[in-house]
Amino acid sequence: AIELTNITKRFGDVTALDGVTLSIRDRENLSILGPSGSGKSSLLRIIAGLEHPDEGTVELDGKDQSGVPAHQRDVSIVFQNFALYPHLSSLGNITLGLRHGLGLSKQEAETRAREVASRMRVEELLHRRPKAMSGGQRQRIALARALARHAGVVLLDEPMSGLDAQLHISLRAEIHQLISQEGATGVTVTHDQQDAMSMADRIAVMDNGRIVQLGTPDELYDSPVSAFVAGFIGAPP
Ligand code: ATP
Ligand code: MG
Repeated sequence: AIELTNITKRFGDVTALDGVTLSIRDRENLSILGPSGSGKSSLLRIIAGLEHPDEGTVELDGKDQSGVPAHQRDVSIVFQNFALYPHLSSLGNITLGLRHGLGLSKQEAETRAREVASRMRVEELLHRRPKAMSGGQRQRIALARALARHAGVVLLDEPMSGLDAQLHISLRAEIHQLISQEGATGVTVTHDQQDAMSMADRIAVMDNGRIVQLGTPDELYDSPVSAFVAGFIGAPP
């Protein structure tokens, strides 16, 4: 489980997160929905330990993560821009963190990379570098890299952005399935309300660094707390 208590994060005079409190259950799939600049990526980066809150605490499985570095958290993240290393093949991208973050041997890491690549049907891409792949293929490799950690928490920042409609829908279903097969807790940032409605057990709607509503897709659709939420969910106001 993930327990965020009163998280505040400022960058200079911008308050990116303004007292966010949120509990996410084990194996839950939560979507974070909100406009650009509302604090979605900042929240994921704080859970992952890539940024530190000015105030508030992050607990994973009941343990306070203050002072726990990113590579020691039971978390993996797919970044908004995928962030693959350009000079490494897909195999190199997937195994790097397994070897240096998790301490697996080269052989163990490669075995694990091949296993996740086969589940995601990207084996034929393992020896290509990012620039020799399409956007959708790079996205799948970034996802494979995150899943290969077998982390208890998988954070996805706009994992479907920039894909054509058909790829988008098939990847959406696949991500959902892969995360549940892993038995992981998933937090997916999106600004596509259809992604959130179809993937999530619950949706947190963010605006201006705050969670303005948290509920199941049905609850948000049937009883939005404001015109802003209604507009975002696509519900009648
Ligand atoms: P998007 O949908 O565009 O990705 P977001 O909801 O992910 O937006 P964040 O990236 O979390 O938004 O940013 C929240 C606010 O914090 C924005 O005003 C942003 O400009 C600011 N911000 C985020 N990271 C930094 C940083 N490293 N330095 C300065 N300001 C930052
Ligand atoms: Mg973002």
